[in-house]
Amino acid sequence: MKILVTGGAGFIGSNFVFHMLENHPDYDLVVLDLLTYAGNLETLKDVLDRPNVRFVRADIADREAVYGLFREEHPDIVVNFAAESHVDRSIEDPGIFLRSNIIGTQTLMDACRKYGVARYHQVSTDEVYGDLPLDRPDLFFTEETPLHTSSPYSASKAAADLLVQAYHRTYGLPATISRCSNNYGPYHFPEKLIPLIISRALADESLPVYGTGENVRDWLFVRDHCAAIDRIIHDGRVGEVYNIGGHNERTNLQVVKTILKELGKPESLITFVRDRAGHDMRYAIDPAKMMSELGWEPTTTFDEGIKQTVKWYLDNEDWWKNIISGDYQQYYEKMYAGR
Ligand code: NAD
Repeated sequence: MKILVTGGAGFIGSNFVFHMLENHPDYDLVVLDLLTYAGNLETLKDVLDRPNVRFVRADIADREAVYGLFREEHPDIVVNFAAESHVDRSIEDPGIFLRSNIIGTQTLMDACRKYGVARYHQVSTDEVYGDLPLDRPDLFFTEETPLHTSSPYSASKAAADLLVQAYHRTYGLPATISRCSNNYGPYHFPEKLIPLIISRALADESLPVYGTGENVRDWLFVRDHCAAIDRIIHDGRVGEVYNIGGHNERTNLQVVKTILKELGKPESLITFVRDRAGHDMRYAIDPAKMMSELGWEPTTTFDEGIKQTVKWYLDNEDWWKNIISGDYQQYYEKMYAGR
């Protein structure tokens, strides 16, 4: 079995590579990644010289490169993690999100049609459903919830999801889609909430929290997400959407306070900043279909997962310190200075 993992040098893609190597050591993995600011080959350094792992630097929206790779490798399964993934960046500059997230998905699926695959899996997000009101804790996103996007990022992901469904219906592409809640864990780029707070709190720097910090996110440990995708590509039904989440809702402020407690740092570091434009209030996934149909359930509680994640950032300072120097620092100043 040969799996093409796109975006495998990013946060979830790299964790998926590690998951597959641990759980399916007989599989061949081809990792394709453009190595944008969010992709880091350093993350994969311990597995790159394995005989069953090949890394290729390419753009999923580059038809020639993608077709060339399919001609050479003929993957059985494609799992598409490659995407521009940061909402704030999509608000600043939507164009690249449309190219990578929509045209990239189309290009990969065209290659799958041309060369044939047993399965194309699209890694999507609960953000395609928009948001839920804070005063209706009884509401959850199901697979039938209409798509209703708020940001250029979520709109690009929703467009890609619709294309995947169209390719399945029109061309019979054997495709599945998963929509997961917010992930956290090792190798998370420090622009996202949890690693941002850990890395800045460790340096006793102010911790920017949007608005009043009341926005609710549904958090899942990244390895639980990877295990769910593993189930879907093997046992999921083609043409289906699967929601992935662990009923783990926390306000952003609760998350920040949990991390500060874990690190023994004071809450006085918290600084409320002007809210993100169009900021979604609450995400909450109903994962019943994953659980009943595929027998998946998360194995890491939020408290354990946060402990593991904080420990990982403490033990791997070199990994994130390299990232937050240079270009990223300029981006941070632009986004938060004076807010
Ligand atoms: P990430 O930004 O950490 O990684 C994305 C990877 O894709 C990077 O390695 C980057 O170099 C690569 N990439 C970007 N554009 C590319 C292109 N045109 N061609 C090839 N490679 C390209 O993102 P992530 O958090 O790991 O998210 C992975 C996927 O999971 C995304 O599709 C995202 O929408 C989805 N998702 C993320 C979350 C989350 O909480 N992080 C939740 C649900 C779904």
